[in-house]
Amino acid sequence: MVLSAQREPLELRDLPVPEPGPGQVLLRVLACGVCRTDLHVVDGELPRPKLPLVPGHQIVGESEDGRRLGVPWLGWTCGRCRYCVSGRENLCDEARFTGYDVDGGYAEYAVADERFCFPLPDGYPDVQAAPLLCAGLIGYRSLRLAGDAERLGLYGFGASAHIVAQMARSQGRRLFGFVRAGDEAARAFALELGCEWVGASGELPPE
Ligand SMILES: [Zn+2]
Ligand SMILES: [Zn+2]
Repeated sequence: MVLSAQREPLELRDLPVPEPGPGQVLLRVLACGVCRTDLHVVDGELPRPKLPLVPGHQIVGESEDGRRLGVPWLGWTCGRCRYCVSGRENLCDEARFTGYDVDGGYAEYAVADERFCFPLPDGYPDVQAAPLLCAGLIGYRSLRLAGDAERLGLYGFGASAHIVAQMARSQGRRLFGFVRAGDEAARAFALELGCEWVGASGELPPE
């Protein structure tokens, strides 16, 4: 699926199988999740995508030698700047992003820099593994940074929060959800996934 111009629908097109460059791996795409960021790219809220572009950055693929690999949003970094050399390459000023600066996974084949691919353990079906590569990754990082707090506030109940909620509940934590005022669907979803209280972002929780 190709984005030719922002704010236009994606088009189904036949493309040549991409050629892996140095350090890249060719993947047959097994599944690719849809992220809110993909919508930001298509809608023009992220201003400078490569065009034409194959979006998609939650890719589960199989390499030519049979490994199942995951490809996230962060597709390449410079390796030299102060962020890269201090293990914070997610902040690299020259970073290139999958499905934005380089073609992503809404396709039968994709190439990716192997240094930024994750080996995926067996036991996760492709479709369940795909969202872990962005929503899950972001949520898990936030959960880790929250330390061992018993009570967690989840601000915005979208893709990330719905995964983090399941992890946090399994760890026995108590969850308080915050959604856009009037978003009853998100509110019901947050309650269903184990939040003990869900309110609007401007409200104070009971604790
Ligand atoms: Zn994403
Ligand atoms: Zn860098």
